[in-house]
Amino acid sequence: MKIGIIGAGQLGRMLALAGYPLALRFQFLDASADSPGGQVGPIVTGAFDDPASLSKLAADVDLVTYEFENVPVGALHAVAKSRTCLPPVEALRVSQDRLLEKQLFTRLGIPTPPFRAVDSLAGLRGAVAALGLPCVLKTRRLGYDGKGQHYLRKPTDVSSAWRALGGVPLLLEGFVRFDREVSIIGARSTRGETRAYPVVENTHRDGILRVTRAPHRGAALQKSAERHLRRLLDHFDYAGILTIEFFVQRGRLVANEMAPRVHNSGHWTIEGAATSQFENHLRAILGLPLGDTRPVGRCAMVNFIGAMPDRNQVLALPGVHFHDYGKAPRPGRKVGHCTIVAASATERDRLLRRVLRLLPR
Ligand code: AMP
Repeated sequence: MKIGIIGAGQLGRMLALAGYPLALRFQFLDASADSPGGQVGPIVTGAFDDPASLSKLAADVDLVTYEFENVPVGALHAVAKSRTCLPPVEALRVSQDRLLEKQLFTRLGIPTPPFRAVDSLAGLRGAVAALGLPCVLKTRRLGYDGKGQHYLRKPTDVSSAWRALGGVPLLLEGFVRFDREVSIIGARSTRGETRAYPVVENTHRDGILRVTRAPHRGAALQKSAERHLRRLLDHFDYAGILTIEFFVQRGRLVANEMAPRVHNSGHWTIEGAATSQFENHLRAILGLPLGDTRPVGRCAMVNFIGAMPDRNQVLALPGVHFHDYGKAPRPGRKVGHCTIVAASATERDRLLRRVLRLLPR
């Protein structure tokens, strides 16, 4: 069985690494021949929306999946005519547009920040009047890691935010004074079996995920996160891994966004859960029994952003697992991560402080 992965970034690379023990083979599609996936499988080089490259990938594999959210939906529909393509293209379409995403959350009873679509400066003024300050203006499409966002704190920020982002469809959101950010990752298989990982706590800086702590304790929060996740999984007749990111405000979940793919806040599952998100994604799209999602300890994941720390120093720490994506260092770029697996939260936090001290400044 050969699986085609659109995107050969680190997510694609980790999917392939999880699939080899299941006797799966992989073929990637990526614009760049030296993407991380290329270290573990062949890459068809071409643009994600180039019909010839997509047909070349599809012709050579049994099933197509994607690790990258900005694959053009039209191109994927074309692939889906000749090959099963999972997760469903509809989930990708909704996740690519922050307005469609928040409208769907609302329809399914999943709480979100208050929001308004914005297409003009007058529209922005009206939306700011309706939602009040502070608020956050975001591009509806192609935003990630805090890119395409502008915070509005005072009335004069309205015109500067419009100058910064105006001209493309936008979404204005009420600013959520959250206590913490969490996410839930779950899998649904083509047979309809579902499993959820424990809710995890995420710390961002400059819009980029820095640290995930897993599991996040709280039975009530877990229950409501799982309820929201199941609604989305069932709505899409989903297969694969789906992630929802939430703000926690006074103990309540407020959904920020979803990702129809394996997710950075699930990297800890490689060593920290009985079955990793990458293996469960493959099991789910192939209709295999899903694996146990229980954590095997108190875990943390630290992203390496911009540059790798010294490998020997990280490896010298007990229970710490090192991942280098083989990417050239560049400011703001995710180049690797490590996972900490400990017997207690105290020990996990002690190791976490030690890892953070090893990060290059
Ligand atoms: P996003 O690109 O939507 O994932 O946003 C990146 C980060 O910006 C989030 O992880 C939050 O830390 C922050 N953020 C986004 N939207 C809001 C909001 N409505 N209120 C407060 N903070 C936000």
